[in-house]
Amino acid sequence: MATDRTKPDTLPPLPEVIVPPHPEWPKLSETETALLKEKIKKLLKEQDAVLVAHYYTDGSLQDLAEETGGCVADSLEMARFGTQHPARTLVVAGVRFMGETAKILNNEKRVLMPDLAATCSLDEGCPYELFSSFCDEHPDHTVVVYANTSARVKARSDWVVTSGIALPIIRHLAEKGEKILWAPDRHLGRYVQKLTGAEMIFWPGSCVVHEEFRAVALERLRKLHPDAAILVHPESPEAVIAQADVVGSTTALIDAVARLPNLEFIVATDKGIFNKMRKVAPGKILLEAPTVGEGATCQSCAYCPWMGMNSLQNLAEVLATGKNEVHVSPDLAVQARIPIRRMLDFAEAMKKGGGFLSS
Ligand code: SF4
Repeated sequence: MATDRTKPDTLPPLPEVIVPPHPEWPKLSETETALLKEKIKKLLKEQDAVLVAHYYTDGSLQDLAEETGGCVADSLEMARFGTQHPARTLVVAGVRFMGETAKILNNEKRVLMPDLAATCSLDEGCPYELFSSFCDEHPDHTVVVYANTSARVKARSDWVVTSGIALPIIRHLAEKGEKILWAPDRHLGRYVQKLTGAEMIFWPGSCVVHEEFRAVALERLRKLHPDAAILVHPESPEAVIAQADVVGSTTALIDAVARLPNLEFIVATDKGIFNKMRKVAPGKILLEAPTVGEGATCQSCAYCPWMGMNSLQNLAEVLATGKNEVHVSPDLAVQARIPIRRMLDFAEAMKKGGGFLSS
């Protein structure tokens, strides 16, 4: 009898995701930081390189990206920025799937990353062979994967989505009557299903950072701060999402802090995002949503250990040495580019307010 993989408890064991400890970077003095930043700025120019950083990376990297004409963004915008910027080298401060996506979309460019071991629990928990056989068991489903996946998993899919665009794409597919196989983040998948009514089956992956936000502790914190708006990333558990005033991608949550009149915000996503939130809304009070870390074991404490592998120190090193180049075989890149481009074209059509492209 075929295994029913639509039910997480009947899945064959998925690989255990080993969560590394948070890297401890040597603390730099102000002078040392300034010197290192100057060195990186010079290297970026010499190498015709641009820095593309995610909102979850250390604030010093985000600031440097902005100061040097690079970009600080969510993964959708990071992908788009890399395709539009003329620099010959893209330096991606983020996690591996972001570097791979940059390479897939810009095969002619050199893509460097501060640490190639920076991965993601969603990517690690969705190995190609298992995922591919899951797809084979459901040939009548449109395969939609989150950007947080390997190049091979992307190449096996029909669509790639980020949290910023998952909702309209799934709504679009549901309106066409398509059944959807969704991977790998089950919380985001269920959230999107709830809002769209789409017929979906799920891969049971999760993010080690967002999985740990706790609904009961959040309720307690909310009672202490009754006027705070609650902002939640949809990779969080359903009971946490249920308490949110705003659910959305990192960009949507940053916009909410700037836009809403509240003075206080409880934020359920990686705390690296506070760097940008403080810039767009100085004077507002940002509180971390509680995690299982309160007196219990905590794998992430709202700070992604893989994002933490990016620092000024290893950024300077890769620029100086050219090590940590991201490679994706040209054949694989051609296949993986199709569903990513579909997403980017869809986003472009949405921006223009026009009709959506066919799948
Ligand atoms: S925060 Fe979660 S989803 Fe983002 S890279 Fe880290 S493990 Fe992956």
